[in-house]
Amino acid sequence: MEEKKLNLTLKIWRQPAPDAAGSFQEYKISVSPDTSFLEMLDELNNELESKNLDPIAFESDCREGICGTCGLVINGHPHGPLPKIATCQLHMRNFKDGDTIWVEPFRAKAFPVIKDLMVDRSAFDRIMEAGGFISVNTGSVPDGNTIPIPKDIASEAMDSASCIGCGACVAACKNASAMLFVSAKVSQFALLPQGQPERYRRVQAMVKKMDELGFGACSNTYACEAECPKGISIKNIARMNREFIAAKVKTEEVDA
Ligand code: SF4
Repeated sequence: MEEKKLNLTLKIWRQPAPDAAGSFQEYKISVSPDTSFLEMLDELNNELESKNLDPIAFESDCREGICGTCGLVINGHPHGPLPKIATCQLHMRNFKDGDTIWVEPFRAKAFPVIKDLMVDRSAFDRIMEAGGFISVNTGSVPDGNTIPIPKDIASEAMDSASCIGCGACVAACKNASAMLFVSAKVSQFALLPQGQPERYRRVQAMVKKMDELGFGACSNTYACEAECPKGISIKNIARMNREFIAAKVKTEEVDA
């Protein structure tokens, strides 16, 4: 039996270079409902290349919702209309025959467009370099397991650590705030014994770098939590604020 295909109109943001003007271009495509969103873009690119046209630039790596590399604004939602999935996990069966789909890059001053749907998210790397690590040798897995940690604390740390650094929280926020991302990274260490020696330096350095890089402030709209593919809770933002105040009281300000 012949497979039923979806006939779609795509309005895709095309921008040839960072400083060039961009605009939405219209494409028609007929795809299987079983195709993933990124596979649909692959098919479209195959068509464009077969006509010697410039393919659409977009990012992907693992295509399993793990790496955080993909990320598009689809019909106004970072990672598309479904909750708690990355763009690579979105399938075309979630759209209807005849739909028009708008596809844009993540938009934030700190994430400049490189080309089309690709943005430069290295600002997140700069924040991690400022303090998102433990600089001492904490041993191997058996060493870690010798430190008793209450189950509820370990689970909270793991929940925070599940942030994949995709940037959807920034794209969802009207202020382009990176507070959900930074707070998840601060929390994953602040909750565990291994994170204690650098705890107060870390939160000050990461917040300072976040502000320097042009991310906006949090105004508690919860849009970040709603669009996060990993369900990172804004409880982390409250924890980061507490950590930050405690750091100001307990330690000297960091220079970095
Ligand atoms: S907090 Fe969520 S949306 Fe933000 S970078 Fe992490 S996984 Fe992505």
